[in-house]
Amino acid sequence: MHRRDFLQRAAAFAALPAVGALPAWERAARRGASSAPLTVNGERLNGWLTQFDRIGRTAGGINRVAYSEADLAGRAFTRDLFAQSGLQLRLDTAGNMLARVPGTDASRAPILIGSHIDSVTDGGNYDGPVGSFGAIEVARSLAEQKIRLRHPLEVVVWQNEEGGTIGSKIAVGLLTPADLDKVARSGKTVREGIGIIGGDVSRVNEAVRRKGDIAGYIELHIEQGGLLERANRQIGVVEGIVGLRWFEITVTGFSNHAGATPMDQRQDAMLAAAKFSVAVNEAIRSESGRQVATVGRFNVTPNTTNVIPGQVVLTVDLRDLDQPKIDRFTARFEQLGRDIGAATNTKFAFTQMVNSAPALSDTRIMRVVESSATALGLTHQRMPSGAGHDAQEVAHIAPMGMIFVPSVGGISHSPKEFSRAADITNGANVLMNAVVELDRIL
Ligand SMILES: [Zn+2]
Repeated sequence: MHRRDFLQRAAAFAALPAVGALPAWERAARRGASSAPLTVNGERLNGWLTQFDRIGRTAGGINRVAYSEADLAGRAFTRDLFAQSGLQLRLDTAGNMLARVPGTDASRAPILIGSHIDSVTDGGNYDGPVGSFGAIEVARSLAEQKIRLRHPLEVVVWQNEEGGTIGSKIAVGLLTPADLDKVARSGKTVREGIGIIGGDVSRVNEAVRRKGDIAGYIELHIEQGGLLERANRQIGVVEGIVGLRWFEITVTGFSNHAGATPMDQRQDAMLAAAKFSVAVNEAIRSESGRQVATVGRFNVTPNTTNVIPGQVVLTVDLRDLDQPKIDRFTARFEQLGRDIGAATNTKFAFTQMVNSAPALSDTRIMRVVESSATALGLTHQRMPSGAGHDAQEVAHIAPMGMIFVPSVGGISHSPKEFSRAADITNGANVLMNAVVELDRIL
């Protein structure tokens, strides 16, 4: 193309408001030129989210808990979106919804994009649907703009994310028999639920995918925290999903009369537990970084006004992206327990209740997300995800990355959960360009 022609076309191109019916040369220009990033139909995407807001809406908030009537209605709505977007839906035996767009190279494993549509009790409309519908919209826009990838593109809507990333856990082969007996918020067990949504629990292993089966996974999601809003950034580039360790700590002292026992002769479990809580907070804040630790529960015995507490059972929730740091703080908390126990004449006994390793994002995926955001003129920053996501399961078998868009007020799992339409469109645009770029480099 001559330079003058190019400039004329570029000017015409810039003047076009919508992407729906671009001539072939403009599509080609968009594909080739890094200066012209791709865009989805944001109005359509946000329209779907608005319609979806009616499903499972109650006075308390959105209630599309897994395997409920509202969840089924949400899945039916989503099935229609797949159909009207020209995506042929397939249910795996776990009940995950999938659709595959063939690539030009049949030997390649698919790039997977998606999220979930189930909600917590009294939740919001954005946690899950933004990434699920965003993925459908990206696949549809790529087809409309006649952009074919080398890799197949697969869109997934995982079942029952909020009940413990069940659908994605099955898909990576990590579901345990005990998980099948877990009761979802709808009152149905996972075992029952898989049947309710059209899966087959007796053949659930057929849904398992192995290392190499997925070339890469990108999940668009709302942040669910307030970091992006406070930092005034449009896109969060997720570095990984933090590892989590929960402890239950029993502090044992001696219950005795609150009036008759002198202050220097007490074994006050409450006082020891209180000192420990302060010490945990001071320790976690003594280093730079995003590590967090929370003492969230105190069960005091006998919990009476005129008796020195003989026992306190308390919990610590510890999270970070860095496993060695989690191990280091674990050891430090145990040492604090021994020191405070010695100083207060009490005993600290630690029991580990939950331990999940951090799931790190793939550096190549973080880079394509960043370059896509930059090309779109969006501000962005790297950040950990403090909340769990299906992406943490997929990370066991494939390179993974996530794109966050701001949550207004940092609120989520609440009827007040809200993300702006423009931010959602930005996130889907980043997803679209990241997919195309990932297709090129993988
Ligand atoms: Zn979610």
